[in-house]
Amino acid sequence: MAYVDADHACGQSGAGGSGLAVVSANDLRGLSGETIVPACEKANGAEIAGRCRWIGGMGHEMLHTLGLIHPDRSPACQTAQCRSEALMMHGYVKYPNAALLKEESLSLNRSLFVQDQRIENLLDCTAP
Ligand SMILES: [Zn+2]
Repeated sequence: MAYVDADHACGQSGAGGSGLAVVSANDLRGLSGETIVPACEKANGAEIAGRCRWIGGMGHEMLHTLGLIHPDRSPACQTAQCRSEALMMHGYVKYPNAALLKEESLSLNRSLFVQDQRIENLLDCTAP
């Protein structure tokens, strides 16, 4: 993950793939609880306050580096509800209320970089 301390332009976002993810200053602001600086004049539903959203964004981009793609073409994610909840679609905005598709979990389980382990005591990202 590369956090660039620069603002992105309206219409730009973070990106990840091939082992590298790059995100901008708002990701740093969001993770640290600072105020987000909107890139566009019109409100953007992804530029919202709260650490959870930015942790979700980090997870989304990091999973791109491990080969996951947006599941909008997957038969398993053709509903608005799935697209809203899937971490690799728009679910990152609602993290931790986001999920991976079964096919995504299976793909990650084949990765040498991922170990299937349940963490029982996650920190509450909604805490100030
Ligand atoms: Zn993405």
